[in-house]
Amino acid sequence: MNVILLGPPGAGKGTQAKLLEERHGMVQLSTGDMLRAAVKAGTDVGKIAEDIMKRGDLVPNDVVVSIISDRIDQPDAKRGFILDGFPRNVAQAEALDAMLEKKGLKLDHVIQMEVDDEALVERITGRFTCGNCGAGYHDRFKPTKVAGVCDVCGSTEMVRRADDNETTVRSRLATYHKETAPLLPYYKKRGNLVQLNGMAPMDQVAEEIKTVLAADQRLSG
Ligand code: ADP
Ligand code: ADP
Ligand code: ZN
Repeated sequence: MNVILLGPPGAGKGTQAKLLEERHGMVQLSTGDMLRAAVKAGTDVGKIAEDIMKRGDLVPNDVVVSIISDRIDQPDAKRGFILDGFPRNVAQAEALDAMLEKKGLKLDHVIQMEVDDEALVERITGRFTCGNCGAGYHDRFKPTKVAGVCDVCGSTEMVRRADDNETTVRSRLATYHKETAPLLPYYKKRGNLVQLNGMAPMDQVAEEIKTVLAADQRLSG
């Protein structure tokens, strides 16, 4: 099963994608994570993306379309993938359609998480992750059990994203409303859009996603 998790920055896409990986063996494909890895490694893609990401603008379509296409071709994506942060505009959605058709794959569900802008700012400015294993946390909504120590791997290397500050968040939200929100009518027309209340607690959102996916016989676990 292949799904898109759609929602503004901070909606909980990464959180839910990681739960789907753990519980259902699917694979999270996050263009944001891939771009951050490219920036860190100093690749050509990273050099293009770095300043754009700092501003909260979108990286050029051809760049993200190409990295997603290559990633989908890797063997683990056959288990079913969760697109997190892609597509982000109508041109990317059209490129995804063409790409999936060419690869003989289909999209089963587009799941959108709706969250108020003010709640998003609070979520993003309190977000941090474990630099060792990637586990996600929040100062208020999901603190580590022991301050500064990862619950999962015990690492004390906690990282905050350079673009998770209030100024860049406002710009990312504006980009979302202008560029990404038009994907809602795009997928609604196709009949595979499901809209969930992303303001609910994480476990409740996870249950709702599970219900959507469980309607599909191919879900394991
Ligand atoms: P969030 O998890 O907060 O939604 P992401 O990690 O998905 O943020 O994205 C971080 C940044 O990476 C974006 O602000 C944008 O600059 C870039 N980016 C990620 N995915 C895409 C995409 N599909 N198209 C263009 N730019 C992207
Ligand atoms: P996205 O990938 O959509 O940008 P994340 O999954 O990284 O969003 O979530 C943003 C922040 O909000 C994280 O710190 C996460 O722990 C927290 N968070 C995620 N889902 C919820 C929720 N349902 N309620 C409260 N906080 C949440
Ligand atoms: Zn960890």
